[in-house]
Amino acid sequence: MPKFISLIGYPVKHSISPYFQQAALDYYHLDIRYEAWEISPEMLEVTVAKLREPQNLGANVTVPYKEAVLPLLDQVDNLAGLIGAVNTILKRNGKLWGYNTDAYGFIEALKQHGNFEPEGKKVAILGAGGAARAASFALVQNKVRFLLIVNRTLERAQTLADNLREYISQAGWQAEVAILPWQGLTSSQVFDDCQLIVNCTTIGMNHSSYEGQSPLGVELIPKGILVYDLVYNPYITPLLKLAEQASANILSGLPMLVYQGAASFELWTGRKAPIDIMFNKAQEVLVGSKL
Ligand code: NAP
Repeated sequence: MPKFISLIGYPVKHSISPYFQQAALDYYHLDIRYEAWEISPEMLEVTVAKLREPQNLGANVTVPYKEAVLPLLDQVDNLAGLIGAVNTILKRNGKLWGYNTDAYGFIEALKQHGNFEPEGKKVAILGAGGAARAASFALVQNKVRFLLIVNRTLERAQTLADNLREYISQAGWQAEVAILPWQGLTSSQVFDDCQLIVNCTTIGMNHSSYEGQSPLGVELIPKGILVYDLVYNPYITPLLKLAEQASANILSGLPMLVYQGAASFELWTGRKAPIDIMFNKAQEVLVGSKL
């Protein structure tokens, strides 16, 4: 009798997680199926309750439910609580636990594939949603010196900045956090002294209303800076194309996707994630076909 791990979101058709997670499960010959469940908002509660049935081991949670699932769980891990978003559910001793592996995936990809060490650096974050919150807390935990948060809805950036400042002060660290409204993106001087720009908005994502668009014009991107786009579909986004034109360095969102998935895999199975297998499968699916 197979066990199941599900991906809960809306929409989920275009997700590549089922491909690389199943490849990792098959590598260990585990009798576990990774299934995508496209769930409307009114079905979220019963769907999370269904995870309590014996055949289900846990789930990934994606847009738009990463925040909405929190009150439906029995326990939420500290980091997920701080970020305010859960992307992984694990059933342990009959209880549903919520975790956030996006923060780990973000930093691991930045260090391993961007060759970037955050300590002492100034970083600009575009966006203040769930991905921006995970990236910001991960950067602060890795001792950035200055974080600039730029968001269209300024209150959301303000809330994130307040949460970060409180966390920094409790930890006894020195990092500074500033916010800027989206309309403030008028010249590349905004990014003076920055070593890294991270796009945590949905702009440029295939199958969204912002497909083909970039959050920044080429004139705003400083030469030599690292531009990290969390959007992974398309593999090379419009922002990354402009960054290349501006002689900046680029990092795609695909490594982050694989590393967050690898951390989730280890939570569900207790086995070391076969990272190369997951990477190859993710690249094959994303780059080899137009999803
Ligand atoms: P979210 O919570 O919905 O946040 C979306 C963000 O985009 C908000 O800050 C929003 O600003 C901003 N935004 C949307 N449209 C905009 C526009 N036209 N102009 C300016 N800002 C705009 O989404 P999320 O969960 O954070 O995800 C964000 C992106 O990260 C998605 O593309 C997702 O696929 C990607 N992601 C990738 C990974 C990975 O592993 N690579 C992991 C997680 C997420 P407002 O606050 O003003 O609405």
